[in-house]
Amino acid sequence: MTREFRKATVHTGTRVSRSSKQVKGGALGTETEKTPNLLTVDVEDWFHILDSAEAPDRSQWSELPSRVEANTDRLLQIFADAEVRATFFVVGWIAWRSPGLVRRIAEAGHEIASHSFWHELVNYHHRDSFRADLATSKKLLEDLSGQPVQGFRAPGWSITPEQTWAFQILAEEGFQYDASMVSGIASHGGFHSPYMGPHTLELPDHQLVEVPLPTFGVGRWRFPYSGGGYLRLFPYSLVRSAAQKTRKSGEPVCVYVHPREIDPEQPRMENLPMLRKFKYYVGLKQTEAKLRRLLKDFAFVPISEWIASHPEQIAKRRYSIDRFPEPVPESSRVPPDPPAEVLQGTG
Ligand SMILES: [Zn+2]
Repeated sequence: MTREFRKATVHTGTRVSRSSKQVKGGALGTETEKTPNLLTVDVEDWFHILDSAEAPDRSQWSELPSRVEANTDRLLQIFADAEVRATFFVVGWIAWRSPGLVRRIAEAGHEIASHSFWHELVNYHHRDSFRADLATSKKLLEDLSGQPVQGFRAPGWSITPEQTWAFQILAEEGFQYDASMVSGIASHGGFHSPYMGPHTLELPDHQLVEVPLPTFGVGRWRFPYSGGGYLRLFPYSLVRSAAQKTRKSGEPVCVYVHPREIDPEQPRMENLPMLRKFKYYVGLKQTEAKLRRLLKDFAFVPISEWIASHPEQIAKRRYSIDRFPEPVPESSRVPPDPPAEVLQGTG
């Protein structure tokens, strides 16, 4: 590891005081204390549905009733109850519309990271639009939170082997880690991580730390289990036993949740295709209870803290990428640069 990781938490939260050294052992006792797991939230609203003609266009977003603030505040309370801190990957557009929300997350002692500005699939971008989207989201989130933004997660895990150029731009824009790989099946393609846990991604002129989603095996397939639709669909006993298996292999479990997933009352997009509807709305009533059980059974820290306290483990596992195909987006789908006024008056 040539890079030094800074702990992103600049505010010492008033409600949450445990540090990574004081995490509780949970069901796995002392083993968990040595290497806690990773708790993450993708902060987006109920209408941020990827790659669907039926979902509202970005020009309509401001007209829709927002539920993200109330839902994220509930997550903050759940985390405070469990005395745990997390990494919040915030969509830049949400930060722009709800700056107070970003401040509240940071003031509670959590890490702020980027989930892009427009929440668009990476393969819709060309290099310049991706760079503008990233840089704007990073600057906005840093201005609002007072923290360095070190991490990124691609919407829909959409960095595939055809979008490796995105890793280079992330490193060039000053990101220290990426959390977009999956070591199994992902709905928007995904990049099959060679490791189940955090490792070093070697690029020709840079390094990034990669923090993938863990998976479990069924026959020759591997499925994620630790968040989103998987956590909503699978019984808690399956999630817990898959997590214990990942832990036994020496890796932390990266859990992810969206604010809308604890909101059974959210508006439904009835015109989505059947399978998409199932994927977005299955198990909404049980998610909060499953999340609370996970927080009770396992110990968690924000990603930047885990990286800062495990330099050797990350340095030992290395994966190099030397193929960088040029992006070929359909011109009609390339997202616009974020509006210029986004960065005015955020300081
Ligand atoms: Zn997302």
